[in-house]
Amino acid sequence: MLENASFLSGTNSLDIIWTMGLGGNLTYLSPSVERFLGYPPEEFMRLSFEEMFTPASYPIVAEGLTRAQASVQAGLPIDFTAVELEHRRKDGSLIWIEMTATGMYDQQGTFLEILGITRDISARKQNEHELEQARVATAAANQALQAANEELQTLASTDALTGVWNRRHFEQAANAAIAQARRYGEPLSLILFDIDHFKAINDRYGHQTGDLVLIEVTRRVGRSLRAADVLARWGGEEFMVLMPHCGEREAAELAEKLRGLLASAAFPGAGRVTSSFGVAEWACAETVDAWTKRVDDALYQAKEGGRNRVVAGAAKEPAQSTVSLNLIWREIYACGEPAIDDEHRELFQLANRLLRVAIAEPSPESLSGAWGILLAHTVEHFAHEEEILRNRGYPELERHTGLHRNLVARALELRGQVEQGGCDFGLLVDFLVREVVARHLLEEDRAFFPLFAGKHDGAD
Ligand code: GH3
Ligand code: MG
Ligand code: MG
Repeated sequence: MLENASFLSGTNSLDIIWTMGLGGNLTYLSPSVERFLGYPPEEFMRLSFEEMFTPASYPIVAEGLTRAQASVQAGLPIDFTAVELEHRRKDGSLIWIEMTATGMYDQQGTFLEILGITRDISARKQNEHELEQARVATAAANQALQAANEELQTLASTDALTGVWNRRHFEQAANAAIAQARRYGEPLSLILFDIDHFKAINDRYGHQTGDLVLIEVTRRVGRSLRAADVLARWGGEEFMVLMPHCGEREAAELAEKLRGLLASAAFPGAGRVTSSFGVAEWACAETVDAWTKRVDDALYQAKEGGRNRVVAGAAKEPAQSTVSLNLIWREIYACGEPAIDDEHRELFQLANRLLRVAIAEPSPESLSGAWGILLAHTVEHFAHEEEILRNRGYPELERHTGLHRNLVARALELRGQVEQGGCDFGLLVDFLVREVVARHLLEEDRAFFPLFAGKHDGAD
């Protein structure tokens, strides 16, 4: 078959050209086989497929031959291409090849032999392998880089000594919390505390003991916070606690708890350590700076007042550009029944929040959110108040319950309007101030005050 193959003499000598009978016997092999595989052509021709190929490649070649036989019998052309086969070399090493085969026919179209080309693709395979290795290495490097970046991010956000958030992170968190509070009319509070006479602790027990006190302070405080609270080191021995969803009363209660927690148990190596606390609820339209200044003022007052104490509610400096509209709770509104009074106070706070939202962020969503909170509290409070009055045998209970029902119905009606974007501010104020506070709380509720023998009997 040499004659038949001779037209391929110009083919790239890196390829092996071969011909094969349909039974699988090689009839010609170009001399390049020796350079390729280390066998002289005559020797290679005597090998079986198993000897020529690796166990993974041999079945592919055998199957290719079976298909070629079937094609010839059916009078169809042979078309075989297999990439990624592995030949065994004479010296036992392996080489990646690509094999293509087709049929040779005489002028009458009768099948003569299979004509094949075997090409060395080991360089390409090597490239692929190196590329894959490079890809894996790059992925690993990227992962390491990402981990390092995360670590850097944490380092950049936390305090090296105590592990709590640092001032930078606090400021970011405070801005995010303000945006949230604005949008949903939720309360938001801040506690700032400072260790009392900390300089004296350093002077007396050494800086290292001072450090341990700082660490222990953050551990004790951290254990008492909720997941949403943000504890940050504000300065040397000053720490902030940012408290989302939390009004001033609740924040002051927590501050009092923290104060007790720090003051009650001795610190290792330093004995008794006390701290002073300032508390401030975020006021509508207030910046982080103005707010932290206000909590700092409260802390200053706690120091001035004798330390180891909590001061809440340092007065807000009147802002020039914002309208301030507030229902102000006065102690003469208290009936003397603690649960009812607490709930009435809370009602004032929630109504104020709704008014603030109505001024600062009067979108249907934010108004509806603040309404929802106020309504939920009111419904719960009404039920509770009715239960207390029933237990006390209040003769006007029936009438009072009816008034509650009417108020809730009116509130629902107004909320419906708000959600459709149609509530006007005047209507809202009129309802909260005139109907709920003036008429109901100050007039109707007063009728049951004598039941509780409160200090205020209405003459006040
Ligand atoms: P006051 O009750 O008015 O707060 O008095 P004070 O002594 O706590 O306040 P002052 O501001 O005079 O002192 C704070 C001290 O805290 C001074 C500073 O050396 C010390 N300090 C700041 N950072 C660290 C720290 O990381 N480790 C230690 N050990 N001390 C620190
Ligand atoms: Mg101090
Ligand atoms: Mg200080």
